[in-house]
Amino acid sequence: MTEYIQAIRGMNDVLPSDSALWRHIEKIIRETVYSFGYDEIRTPILEKTELFKRNIGVATDIVEKEMYEFDDRNGDSLALRPEGTASAVRLGLEHGLLTQGVQRWWYMGPMYRYERPQKGRYRQFYQLGVEAFGVMSADIDLEMILLSEALWRNLSLQAPLVLQINTLGTAVARKAHKEKLVEYLNQYCTELDKDSQRRLHTNPLRILDSKDEKTQKIISDAPKLMDYLDDASKAHFAAVCAGLDALDIAYQINPALVRGLDYYTHTVFEWVSNELGAQGTVCAGGRYDSLVEQMGGKSVPAVGFAMGLERILLLLQLQQQEVNEPADIYIVSTPGAPRLCALKLARDIRRHCKDLRVLTDCSDASFKNQFKKADKSGAGLALIIGAEECTEKNVTVKHLRDEQLPQTKIATAELFTFLEKLRSR
Ligand code: ATP
Ligand code: MG
Repeated sequence: MTEYIQAIRGMNDVLPSDSALWRHIEKIIRETVYSFGYDEIRTPILEKTELFKRNIGVATDIVEKEMYEFDDRNGDSLALRPEGTASAVRLGLEHGLLTQGVQRWWYMGPMYRYERPQKGRYRQFYQLGVEAFGVMSADIDLEMILLSEALWRNLSLQAPLVLQINTLGTAVARKAHKEKLVEYLNQYCTELDKDSQRRLHTNPLRILDSKDEKTQKIISDAPKLMDYLDDASKAHFAAVCAGLDALDIAYQINPALVRGLDYYTHTVFEWVSNELGAQGTVCAGGRYDSLVEQMGGKSVPAVGFAMGLERILLLLQLQQQEVNEPADIYIVSTPGAPRLCALKLARDIRRHCKDLRVLTDCSDASFKNQFKKADKSGAGLALIIGAEECTEKNVTVKHLRDEQLPQTKIATAELFTFLEKLRSR
């Protein structure tokens, strides 16, 4: 026997039993970003590898070890997108949009990272990305946080997510801090975990993010970036904090929040759940004021965030949120001429009442078995078309959820009036 080919590790199928919840999440997302006046962009899943290498930063997890990159038939190095911000900026520059005033964008789709698959961490996963370009003030940082908060509210997430914020200041401040940090950490070099030892030479700020207990202890006394910030950076962060207070949004300042990508400046934030273990970060973002210029454009301030859809799905499943999509009408019929009547009737109902879900049984099964399937479909109404109904141009109507209501025969021509009456009850 031929062995069947399975999906790639860490890349998931969405089964019919889960797709309704997926669509529910996507619908809420679309409605929420729409209500904030954001416009959708769509970028290709494949980009030139260089786009990510240069802009996410060579010493980041993504570029060092997580990218799916390959040479195409022409020998060009391409990568499956690991995140969306670099592509969004590329799109903006390529189409000259970033100099046309404030841009508010969102996108949703699969991202790819070669990580160790586990709950909440996959090799293909879905993100909502939101980006705003052209506003320097902290107000747009607040709008981003308000947008993410609106998502939790609209999704009816029951367990609270905690908002953590920090500031990374400017590149100049980070450079001064980095020198002192490396100097300090060098004293404990051999006591740091392996990853941190390596990062000491490549990306020392990421060491603050280490989950290793011993490293954490060493870090607690390390020079703080906050002490190296210039006045403008401090004022920006103070404005964010004051805004959150005024908006009644609770937050924690987490000085160890440094984000994994090179392009961040000033405000960074994460929304964290304590229900997903190590994969607790549901949404993460911040400012990236120098990225547009770094990518060859004029200096345009920017801020954005990305949210992982699978982690949201897991949270909703934990709170046992289900989305049921029952059929409305199930048409039971005998094969042959009655079946054709059934298919035609189903077509007419769908044309007339566009929101109804109409299933036509296309099997050779007995009426008894067709009724079993009708019941399973969740439909409230079964329409029966046998030989007699077919020639007499009528249908038998059976209420599946209310035994009290009598089974009736209705002329096909009267059916729409009947359905409308039923719906207005
Ligand atoms: P983590 O620290 O969990 O690796 P990250 O900092 O790499 O996250 P970002 O690049 O900021 O994540 O991506 C934003 C969001 O996308 C994350 O908060 C998470 O919800 C989701 N995400 C990131 N990587 C994955 C993955 N491999 N599988 C599923 N979701 C992911
Ligand atoms: Mg990661």
